[in-house]
Amino acid sequence: MDGSFVARPARTTCPYCGVGCGVLATPDGRGGATIAGDPDHPANQGRLCSKGSALGETLSLEDRLLHPEIGGKRASWDAALDAVAEGFRRGLAQHGPEGVALYVSGQLLTEDYYATNKFAKGVLGTANIDSNSRLCMASAVAAHTRAFGEDVVPGTYEDLELADTVVLVGSNLAWCHPVLFQRVMAAKAARPSMTLIVVDPRRTATCEGAELHLPLRPGSDVALFAALLTHLQDRGLADRAWLAAHAEGAEAALEAARAIAPQAAALTGLDPALIARFCAAWAASPRTVTLWSMGVNQSSAGTDKANAIINCHLLTGRIGRPGAGPFSVTGQPNAMGGRETGALATMLAGHLRFDVPAEHAALAAFWNAPGLPRAPGLKATQLFAALEAQRIGALWVMATNPAVSLPDGDAVRGALARAPFLVVSEVTRRSDTAAYAHVRLPALAWAEKTGTVTNSERVISRQRGFLPAPGEARPDWWMVAEVARRLGHEGFGWAGPAAIFREHAAVTGLARPSARAFDISGLAGLADDAYAALAPTRWPVPADGPVAARFFAHGGVLAGRARLVPTPFRAPVEDVSAAFPLRLLTGRLRDQWHTMTRTGAVPRLMAHSPEPTLTLHPADAQGLAPGALVAAESVRGRAIFRLALDEGQARGTAFAPMHWAAELAPSGRVNALVAPHGDPVSFQPELKNAAIRVSAYGAAWHAAVLSATRLPRDLAPYEAAIAVEGGWRHELAGQGAPAEAFARLLRLIDAPGMAWQRMEDPAAGLFRAAAIRCGRLAGAVLLGPDAALPPRAWLAALLASEGPLEPADRAALLAGARPGGPPPSPLVCACHGVTAAAIQACGGDGARVGAETRAGTGCGSCKPEIAALLARLAPA
Ligand code: SF4
Repeated sequence: MDGSFVARPARTTCPYCGVGCGVLATPDGRGGATIAGDPDHPANQGRLCSKGSALGETLSLEDRLLHPEIGGKRASWDAALDAVAEGFRRGLAQHGPEGVALYVSGQLLTEDYYATNKFAKGVLGTANIDSNSRLCMASAVAAHTRAFGEDVVPGTYEDLELADTVVLVGSNLAWCHPVLFQRVMAAKAARPSMTLIVVDPRRTATCEGAELHLPLRPGSDVALFAALLTHLQDRGLADRAWLAAHAEGAEAALEAARAIAPQAAALTGLDPALIARFCAAWAASPRTVTLWSMGVNQSSAGTDKANAIINCHLLTGRIGRPGAGPFSVTGQPNAMGGRETGALATMLAGHLRFDVPAEHAALAAFWNAPGLPRAPGLKATQLFAALEAQRIGALWVMATNPAVSLPDGDAVRGALARAPFLVVSEVTRRSDTAAYAHVRLPALAWAEKTGTVTNSERVISRQRGFLPAPGEARPDWWMVAEVARRLGHEGFGWAGPAAIFREHAAVTGLARPSARAFDISGLAGLADDAYAALAPTRWPVPADGPVAARFFAHGGVLAGRARLVPTPFRAPVEDVSAAFPLRLLTGRLRDQWHTMTRTGAVPRLMAHSPEPTLTLHPADAQGLAPGALVAAESVRGRAIFRLALDEGQARGTAFAPMHWAAELAPSGRVNALVAPHGDPVSFQPELKNAAIRVSAYGAAWHAAVLSATRLPRDLAPYEAAIAVEGGWRHELAGQGAPAEAFARLLRLIDAPGMAWQRMEDPAAGLFRAAAIRCGRLAGAVLLGPDAALPPRAWLAALLASEGPLEPADRAALLAGARPGGPPPSPLVCACHGVTAAAIQACGGDGARVGAETRAGTGCGSCKPEIAALLARLAPA
């Protein structure tokens, strides 16, 4: 840093979940930045969760892809872009527009999304562009379109605070949208009469604040909401005047619901009294928001589930009013931007439709794209099936990691390995998908990117770069524009993201006079300086004047009438059987994001849940102990997990996180097990209902290894690499001779200047070694016949310590036991490093927890776990 550096905070947006929190990022002049919540951003009003507040720890250039590569070798941008253009030219020549594709991401900014969609549909003439948002919210998009005629989220976050009853369906809001959950809990604290209801097969952290939890059978939501719809009708709560003026389809929807409702208890597995309580609470509360997330969407009946929820709001007219409405939250920071720009195979840009000739013609003329496709293209799982079948000649993957995130993961990896031409634009070298690429293009990361994102409540926020582009990294939109130019196309000569945004905004006005709800044509003339200063802005922003914050605020639904949709009950495609008796649910962890390429490098985020874990109800464990290694198998694949037991896990189900990639845990990839079955309307895969079986994984040896750098992959059948302060911790387990495994591990971490101390007891299968350099612990290998190795938090603390290794610790390392002290305790508060034991030591007094340990006083993401610990300490 030179003396002239002046730190100025940039107002930007968190790149993780769909809450879309505002962030103040202040560069430190050394390539890093301090991070704070933006008190002026309407989504978070200064709050950040554990992931957002750790953003400053993800800015390292270690593992960054900094230069273009062809065939794994550094290349110039010109050579790489020429190669991409030639690859797509070849793909088009061999297969036509149906044989080229792009697979993009909710991590892209709206400007990148717009450029990429224009390139696919306008230049290549293919609708084969789909986003990883297909895995996240496609069912919500389809349900909105069926109900409202367009993909529109009616309400705002404020409605969650104004509601008397908030129902969360298939949403672990406390972990997956933490700041929104904190807003709900703050509103509830201020107005204790507010009721929170959670509908979820698992008892999650979100349930800690809820009055009612309905642990329904996975996939059975339609039956519950059919019971509710008939209850509302039978209690005279249908708003006949509102329906007559604004909606249609009520009778058909009620008829379908009446066919299901009598079996609601049998189909959901819920106590009829619990269903009755739920229906009564919903019915009694005109101000009700029903929020749903991936537990609804990621299902072969996802669209029907979402419509079953919307039906209840339409029947009662509880929509468009303060504190009332159906509300879908997106998983990704800019999933909504992808929907707006049409970067999905089922949409044109700006919410324009393939099958409305005037809209299609308007866009084709605006883009000068006579080959604009007239029908939807391949959706995510279809696209990779086509790649597998060699029907795709060229594929460009941007800012996403389908090798980890798509279902039937082993088949996806096979397809990627056989791709005739694969381009990956990425920020990291540490991506499972990038390993298969013929051409790798270095993209800008969060701290360097400039553009806009739209959050779950339709608020467009600026993302502002605050660090210089490292190496030769470039914006995604620029790469696309350069390839389009090489393919001989005009119309990509933007000077920067402001120009792209103006063009995108202009497209949203093309539907006039038929009018689409998504209209930001009022921003089409935004000057560069106004774009630079753009404050968070909720759409619509039509060219001809302001509109209400809530859609349907005056009852009317867009250009027509709302539609209640009949939703017959359909069970998940894959059923359990004697051979595969457990239903696997997948989901997110509190402190991790997607495939861990960023959060996986932050030690304090890794501490909360450091290994790939499978959770079972204790009654399903069949004698397996928590902490044991288990193999989980489906008909598609196999993975190995550390076992956890939880009374809150529904009987007959298992839960595993979706984050782990081969880069960190080759054996813990849950997507190898997951089924690719899709919803017939939204084509969203059923990521939460694979049938599996679980058995003990009998390893000949287990090892914990500390090292300064990450060890190479594929060392053992079970492995997890965990970032810790000062280096890496590796958990390994395998077959074969323990002595040989020990010797191999020693060789891998040995380095000049290390002095080794060893203890070996081959008869007992015990091998321990500690490497000392300059008096400090520089590495360690502890290997034994079972998983009962020393507490890992203690081991990690020894590696992180800047002082000399104390004789007692040295002796304890070789003895394989921590010297004295209480037993290890899991981390609860990532901000202040507070364990469960420290919280329990406060004797069940919530005020003491904050005052004495500071747990819960940082980002607040741990508050539900603190509440659960305190509840267990409370007198019965
Ligand atoms: Fe980021 Fe957390 Fe806000 Fe989501 S809730 S946008 S992850 S800070």
